[in-house]
Amino acid sequence: MATITPTKATKATPAIAFNLKTATLRTLFEMTRTIADLDAIRALLDWDQQTQMPLGANGVRGEQIATLETVLHAHKAAPALGKAIAKAEAALAAHPERFSDADRALVREARRSHAEATKLPEHFVRDYAVATSVGWEHWQAARTAQDFSLFASDLERIVDLQRQKAQYLDPAAKVPYAVLFDTFEPGMDLATCEQALDQLRQATVPLLKRVQAAQQVDNGFLQGTFPHDQQMALSRRILAIIGYDFDHGRLDLAAHPFMTGLGSPDDDRLTTRVDEHDVVSCQMSVMHECGHAHYELGIDPALKRTILGGGTSSGIHESQSRTWENIIGRSAAFWQGQYHVLQDAFPTPFKQVPLADFVRALNRVEGSLIRVEADELTYNLHIIIRFEIEKDLIAGKIAVRDLPGIWNQKYYDYLGVTPPNDSVGLMQDVHWSAGLFGYFPTYSLGNCYAAQFAATLRQAHPDMDARLAQGETGFIREWQRDTIHRWGSIYQGDDLCRRVTGEGLNPAHLIAYLTEKFTRVYGL
Ligand code: ZN
Repeated sequence: MATITPTKATKATPAIAFNLKTATLRTLFEMTRTIADLDAIRALLDWDQQTQMPLGANGVRGEQIATLETVLHAHKAAPALGKAIAKAEAALAAHPERFSDADRALVREARRSHAEATKLPEHFVRDYAVATSVGWEHWQAARTAQDFSLFASDLERIVDLQRQKAQYLDPAAKVPYAVLFDTFEPGMDLATCEQALDQLRQATVPLLKRVQAAQQVDNGFLQGTFPHDQQMALSRRILAIIGYDFDHGRLDLAAHPFMTGLGSPDDDRLTTRVDEHDVVSCQMSVMHECGHAHYELGIDPALKRTILGGGTSSGIHESQSRTWENIIGRSAAFWQGQYHVLQDAFPTPFKQVPLADFVRALNRVEGSLIRVEADELTYNLHIIIRFEIEKDLIAGKIAVRDLPGIWNQKYYDYLGVTPPNDSVGLMQDVHWSAGLFGYFPTYSLGNCYAAQFAATLRQAHPDMDARLAQGETGFIREWQRDTIHRWGSIYQGDDLCRRVTGEGLNPAHLIAYLTEKFTRVYGL
C-alpha cells in the first residue's frame, strides 16, 4: 500500500510552518493544540459509539460525551484564550511580515471558535442540546410511524432555536440563515451560493426533461444477490486500488456511512454499509468516504494536532468525496482499468455484461424520492429543494406544519415524483432533527467544486483518462494532495478554490460536465 509521504517543499509547494519563535503565537499554538486533541478524542468516542460499542453502553457513553463537551467548551470559551488571541492579532497587525499564512490562519480559526463558544449563552447551549437530542428521538419514531405530526413540534422548537443561534452569533445580521450557512462554509457569502444553485437549477431541469424523454438505461443486472462478505472484500480491494492507506485507517460497518478524522493525517477511518441486493451502493459509498479520507490523510504533518489539521469547509470536503465517488468512480476510464476486479468478485452477472453497459447503468438518471440514492444529475435538485425550504423556514415565510404539502409540491415540480408518505419525503434526512440548518447547500457546492477542480486536474494531466484506463490512480491523489489537501484549513474554501483553479466558485464547470456526460450516456 502506498503510504503518503510529507510533501517536500518546492517552489510550487512551499513548506508549511508556524512562527513559534514568537511567544504570543507559541502560547496560542499550545492552547489550541489542547482543543484539537480534545476534539479528536470526542470524535473517537463517537466513532466507537457508531461502530463497536455494545448497545447497553449507550447511556454511559452519552454522559461521557456530555462531560467531554463541557471540558471542550470551557477550553474554547476560556478568557485566557481570548487574551491570547487578542495579543496574537495585535502582533500580526504590527508585524505582518513576520508571520506565515499558517500563523494567520491559526489566529483566524482560534477567533472563530472562541467567538462561537462565548457568544452562545450556557442556557441556550443546554436547551439546544436537549431539543436536538429529543428531536432526533422523535424524528426516528415519527419516521417509523410514517407520521410527521409526531415530530412537527420538535422541529418548530429547533427552527426557533436556529433563529436564536443566528441572533446570538451575529446580532446585526440581516439574514439569519446566512449566519447559519457561514458556520459550514466560512468565507463564502450566501448570495454567491444562491446564485450558483440557481444557475444549477436552471441548467438541470431542462436537461433532466431531455433525459427523461430518451430511452431509459437498463440497470437490472446491478440488482441481485451479492453476499455481504464478498462485497466487503471487494470494497477493500477498491480502496487499495484508489490508494487508501490501511496503516492509517480502517474500514468498519455503520448504519450511516461516514469518515472520521481522529488525528489527521495519521488516523482517518471509514465506515460503510452493505445491501446484499445491490452491488453498487456499497462500492460507491466506500469511494465517497475514501475521498474524504484522502483529504485528511493528505494534510501536511506540520498541521497535525492543530486546529488547522482538518478539511477547510463542508463544501470543499464534499468536493473531495464526490471526485472519487462520481467524477472518477462513475467514469468509463476508471472502469476500463478496473472492471476485471468487479468481474472477478462477481463473475455472475458481470462476465456477461459488457463494460459499456455497466458504465451506462452506473449513470442511470431517475427522478427519485431519496437524496442519498440519487444520480449525479438529479442530486442537486434534491439539495435545492431543501435549501429553498430551510431558507423560508428560518425567515418565517413558511410554517413547519405546512411542510408536507410544500415538500411534496416541490418534488413533483422539480423531479416529477410524489412521496407516498413523509418518511420517504421530508423526514428522510437526519439533518433538521440534528439542528443542521445551512448544511445542505454545501453538498451541491461540493459537486460544483469537484467539477471545477477536475477541470484544473485535467489541464495538469491531459492524459488522465488514458492513465485511469491503464489502472493508475496515484497521480490524481498526488495532485489533490499538493494543491488541495496539504493546506488543511489554512485557506478558507473559496480562497482555496481560487488558488487552485484561478477563480472562485463557478458552477459552469459542473453544468458542462453534467451536460457532456448525460448527453453521451443517453445519446441526446
Ligand atoms: Zn460526504
